[in-house]
Amino acid sequence: MKIKIIKACTPSVFKEYKKFMAAPPQSIFSLAASTPDVYDVELIDETIDMQVNYETDAELIVIFFSTPDAMRGYALADKFRMLGKTVVLGGLHVKFNKFEALKHADTLLIGETEGIWEQLLIDYSKSDLRKVYERTSLVDLKDVKAYPTDLISPEDYGHVWSVLVSRGCVNKCSYCTVHKFFDSMRYRPIDDVINEIRGSGAKIVELHSDNLTADREYAKTLFEKLMPLNIKWVAETTADFANDDELVELAAKSGLVYLLLGLETPSSKALENLDKGFMRVEEVKAQIKKLHKHGIIVDSAMMFGVDGQTEDIFDETIKFVKEIDLDVAHAVVPIPFPGTNFFRKLESQGRILTYDWSNYDGRHLVYKHDVFNNVNLGKGLKKFEENAYTLKGYLRYQKFLLAMEYHVMF
Ligand code: SF4
Repeated sequence: MKIKIIKACTPSVFKEYKKFMAAPPQSIFSLAASTPDVYDVELIDETIDMQVNYETDAELIVIFFSTPDAMRGYALADKFRMLGKTVVLGGLHVKFNKFEALKHADTLLIGETEGIWEQLLIDYSKSDLRKVYERTSLVDLKDVKAYPTDLISPEDYGHVWSVLVSRGCVNKCSYCTVHKFFDSMRYRPIDDVINEIRGSGAKIVELHSDNLTADREYAKTLFEKLMPLNIKWVAETTADFANDDELVELAAKSGLVYLLLGLETPSSKALENLDKGFMRVEEVKAQIKKLHKHGIIVDSAMMFGVDGQTEDIFDETIKFVKEIDLDVAHAVVPIPFPGTNFFRKLESQGRILTYDWSNYDGRHLVYKHDVFNNVNLGKGLKKFEENAYTLKGYLRYQKFLLAMEYHVMF
């Protein structure tokens, strides 16, 4: 039997951001990895512009999406159901909007999919599908299988392959879905990570974790074991990682070349409102300087439209990203993802302006703000994007891209 697994993605600035950061999405690859071999799997990732073909002999269509792509996910689901297919919906948005999702699906996969997916397949084969399959216990990451490399080529992700390291996060930022979706932070056995990288043959790897260095000892051992692999790797973590000299050195020696840091805003008041008081604005300049010393490119999204920010925030953030010498800066309007504390707070205060998920795209303000509306915020975003870059940062980034191309070729 054939199964088509789709990561739905709608055209938007948010999509371009995801495409820019492109690496195999966890949702569809972990589902494919846990699918028993007797099934024939097709993977489609709309983030990298793969086309969905409705003429298919697949019986089961599984669609994953997060909130900005919910309308696209539902449109795909409705069309496939009209064509007589059995549609399964899963992912971030579905977990926190079950009743809405059920209107477009035969069944739902809620939360981490290992275990419940295999049960769904057994029930489907007996024509005994339940309405909802929900994971009630945490997945032990030693049970996670290696992602298949033959369904979508690493080449389609600009040669960046993704290997799972952890799920969850120790922090509880109010706008973040990670700690709500995964409940608690867990790591994969290091040898499993190393073996998967080796088996993939990839030369550039995203070590997938929402907070790679939260457990310093784990990170140090991982970096030591990465060294003989001679790969380049990219990751996401918190800026305080750079306070640990030994850790930075090991990371650089083992191939760290590109780091995504959640800096968010120079406004301490706004950071507190995001429950991100652990981010020390005054330390960032020295932290990035240290990372640059090791040739590491630093990327961060800067948020505009947070409570506590005023119209000065655009000039303040332009000055900040220049001062800290950030290489790549993206402007983003906070998305109140359903399920987050941020969303609940806005809803309880009656501040949500729309439930049209297509506006939850990181570009529109979908809630009432004391200072901002979509007009003054839009102007400010444009100003930031036109003025935040420095020639030095741009040249560093271009040099990095050339080095990566060279690394893939040889
Ligand atoms: S540190 Fe990052 S992953 Fe962790 S809760 Fe905050 S935003 Fe989410």
